[in-house]
Amino acid sequence: ARASSARAIIQPDFKFEDMGIGGLDSEFGAIFRRAFASRIFPPGLVEKLGIQHVKGLLLYGPPGTGKTLMARQIGKMLNAREPVIVNGPEILNKFVGQSEENIRKLFSEAEKEYKARGDESSLHIIIFDELDAICRQRGAKSDSTGVGDSVVNQLLAKLDGVDQLNNILVIGMTNRKELIDEALLRPGRLEVHMEIGLPDEQGRLQILKIHTGKMRTNNVMGHDVDLDELATLTKNFSGAEINGLVRSASSFAFNRHVKVGTMAGVSNDVENMKVLRDDFLHALD
Ligand code: ATP
Repeated sequence: ARASSARAIIQPDFKFEDMGIGGLDSEFGAIFRRAFASRIFPPGLVEKLGIQHVKGLLLYGPPGTGKTLMARQIGKMLNAREPVIVNGPEILNKFVGQSEENIRKLFSEAEKEYKARGDESSLHIIIFDELDAICRQRGAKSDSTGVGDSVVNQLLAKLDGVDQLNNILVIGMTNRKELIDEALLRPGRLEVHMEIGLPDEQGRLQILKIHTGKMRTNNVMGHDVDLDELATLTKNFSGAEINGLVRSASSFAFNRHVKVGTMAGVSNDVENMKVLRDDFLHALD
């Protein structure tokens, strides 16, 4: 009864469209069904069915596709505390010799709180960015220090130990799933795996809309800019690259308007600044 007396509450007014994530609706839906549906069941039902909430999730795919964005927004949706984000290589390099201790510490606050309150009402999310740096296959020849091995072991111990800790969710992220120690990916550990790939044309259009949102509300985007066209021209771009494109187009526009050294002239001109199709094409170049 202890573990199911309360639960993480999904934000009541939560809408995927407001999350600022473009082109990943179906991935988000699948993650939700597989990893979080149990968190919105009535506690009585959770108990009756003997449901154990998913403790871990692996998001994998190329760089800049929105994995971190997704992990953060999942936290918001679940009303979690501000997630703790740890970077794999940092854990290894900064604290050589103390990596295991660091892993232990990551979990200790959530453990303490769970023991004190005995419920899952306040979810702690721990995000491991570049998980492959610390969780390679144990005994891999490339890891001559053995530090990685003990970190994996420590993490496994923590994940297995959180059996009753329904207030913890671990999200691992990597560009290279094949490097991750398989033991970590088994049921009860990082059991839900989701590929976050490059966006298709429709996805790119959504991402363009998200990142030009301010331009559009401030009426800075010229009428000759056609986002559909840009979506076709940005094949193989990641979300981060599309974001970069938009920023670079606005800086080209800004430069057209700025006359260096005449600050009065600058502000006048910037009033009328428009970001034009040419700025985007220039940026694409
Ligand atoms: P890495 O593997 O390099 O850590 P990542 O997949 O975690 O990358 P993010 O850090 O989430 O990528 O993306 C970087 C930035 O790119 C985001 O803050 C956002 O501005 C933009 N971006 C990436 N993907 C998307 C997306 N699907 N929708 C909207 N913006 C996106």
